[in-house]
Amino acid sequence: MLRRTFLAGLTSIPAAARAAAPVRVVASFSILADLVRQVGGDAVAVESLVGPDGDAHVYEPRPKDLRTLLAAGLLVRNGLGLEGWMDRLTESAGFKGRVVVAAEKVVPRTMNENGGVLATDPHAWQDPRNAVLYVQAITEGLIAVDAANAAAYRDRAAQYTTQITQADAWIATTLGAIPADQRRIITTHDAFGYYGARYGIEFLSPEGINTEFEPSAKSIAALVAQIKREKIRAVFIENMTSPRMAQMLARETGAALGGTVYSDALSPAGGPAATYLNMLRHNTTLFAAAMRPG
Ligand SMILES: [Zn+2]
Repeated sequence: MLRRTFLAGLTSIPAAARAAAPVRVVASFSILADLVRQVGGDAVAVESLVGPDGDAHVYEPRPKDLRTLLAAGLLVRNGLGLEGWMDRLTESAGFKGRVVVAAEKVVPRTMNENGGVLATDPHAWQDPRNAVLYVQAITEGLIAVDAANAAAYRDRAAQYTTQITQADAWIATTLGAIPADQRRIITTHDAFGYYGARYGIEFLSPEGINTEFEPSAKSIAALVAQIKREKIRAVFIENMTSPRMAQMLARETGAALGGTVYSDALSPAGGPAATYLNMLRHNTTLFAAAMRPG
């Protein structure tokens, strides 16, 4: 019944209005939604399933998401095992649109999780060079569903890529000034591996690359000992996880709380990290301040 009403609604839209209507795109989480907006501009209407400050690892889709997905022509997801809930959602929705796996061309980073299991790190967007690959994949996806705007998408993608590359150079310069023995940061979960590999910063965290599993008392104790031994000075809260772990680590070790960084989600509009580029600037400014000797 719902479906019939929906289709009847579609056929009543005049042809001219249909042609001018923006392409409806669904992104799995807020960072991807921003990348799509930057490339798509006014030609796209983007919705994010996991919103600002949300956790894309453990999201539970709602009935509303099925309708959002069915109305979309393009779905953009990260891949690399981030959205474990996505296949079930697209199957239940019977989604027939085009799917972009943004991280498709990324060389994945693997790491040992608790217990020595080798796991793929999904947080590739934290290296801006990977974000350039995301933008390429998104641009190709948009052109595939909306060839009429191909030139506009390519132009916007080229301009945005220049901005990402400039941000990358600025981060490299800013963090390049930090002495080698200060290049360590504590975060709640292991979301900054790609960022750390790109800029030569070591990130340590009690939780692994997935927020799904609670760290053991033993691994927390080992991290506390390491923070004290190596005199690591700052612990960061992440916007999309509980602040309690970072607060506890700071209390146990005497390390300072360095503030809130944005790992797997943007801030709401008006916040300090409402776009991908602002997220990079905000995080880097806080990380640099915490590591700078003074
Ligand atoms: Zn994460």
